[in-house]
Amino acid sequence: MQLRLPTSVSEARECLAEGAIPVGGATLIWAAWQRDGFPEQAVSLRKVPEATAIGDGVLGGAVLLHQVLDDRVPEVLRQAAKGVGTGAVRRAATVGGNIAGSTLRDLLPAAIVLDAWADVLTADGVDQVDLAEVQAKSPVLLALRWREPVRGAFAKVADPAGGEVPTIAAAAVDTEGVLRVAVREGYAVSGGEVGADGGGVEELFAGALSGVSETGRSLVLQQVAKVRGE
Ligand SMILES: Cc1cc2nc3c(=O)[nH]c(=O)nc-3n(C[C@H](O)[C@H](O)[C@H](O)COP(=O)(O)OP(=O)(O)OC[C@H]3O[C@@H](n4cnc5c(N)ncnc54)[C@H](O)[C@@H]3O)c2cc1C
Repeated sequence: MQLRLPTSVSEARECLAEGAIPVGGATLIWAAWQRDGFPEQAVSLRKVPEATAIGDGVLGGAVLLHQVLDDRVPEVLRQAAKGVGTGAVRRAATVGGNIAGSTLRDLLPAAIVLDAWADVLTADGVDQVDLAEVQAKSPVLLALRWREPVRGAFAKVADPAGGEVPTIAAAAVDTEGVLRVAVREGYAVSGGEVGADGGGVEELFAGALSGVSETGRSLVLQQVAKVRGE
């Protein structure tokens, strides 16, 4: 297998056009390659400046999860990265591999409450797409972008019984006073938004978050209370 290391977006697009498979830290894909066979070529974005950017409302897709623990990144995303796997996983796995290439996607609820969007590589250039499209199509993620929140809160249930996927809840309020919440239960992630006073969160449980369990609801309400400083 040839590992290609482009140094610009246009070179990266060439690699993809020539059939190279995107790879982050290979923490997941390596096992699949060992089982199914290695591709002829893979492409890492780790030398593409846009994919390694941190700060000013941007987090590159090739940034390692342990590098997300940086003051320039909103607290809610830092906490999400801090809770992923082990130290060894966080030192190798990337933002793009987590959000666009894995099933657990701990970073996704945090990205949803930041109202983040993504720069993705396409055949024609770089497109901006919403997180729903990232979830649905797993495009090649160049970077995540967001507007700075005022406050955020994040919680992941530690060591759930029976090895279940840990529930995650996140909340953040933006500068325009919109409060966003997101919750992951099992592999399903849902989110919604209301006014900054938190009024209407209960109504979300009858709408966008209607599938969320009592435990999930309570975790969401705890994050809302933290964001409201209660
Ligand atoms: C022991 C262990 C524990 C873990 N625990 C957690 C956890 O608690 N929470 C959690 O969220 N995750 C967890 N993970 C998953 C971890 O976050 C993933 O391994 C990681 O997200 C994959 O990142 P990677 O950069 O290594 O991707 P790779 O293994 O390199 O690639 C995985 C997939 O993503 C694709 N990909 C890579 N980069 C991009 C990109 N920029 N754009 C689009 N697609 C891309 C690849 O083509 C491949 O299909 C755990 C993993 C391990 C091994």
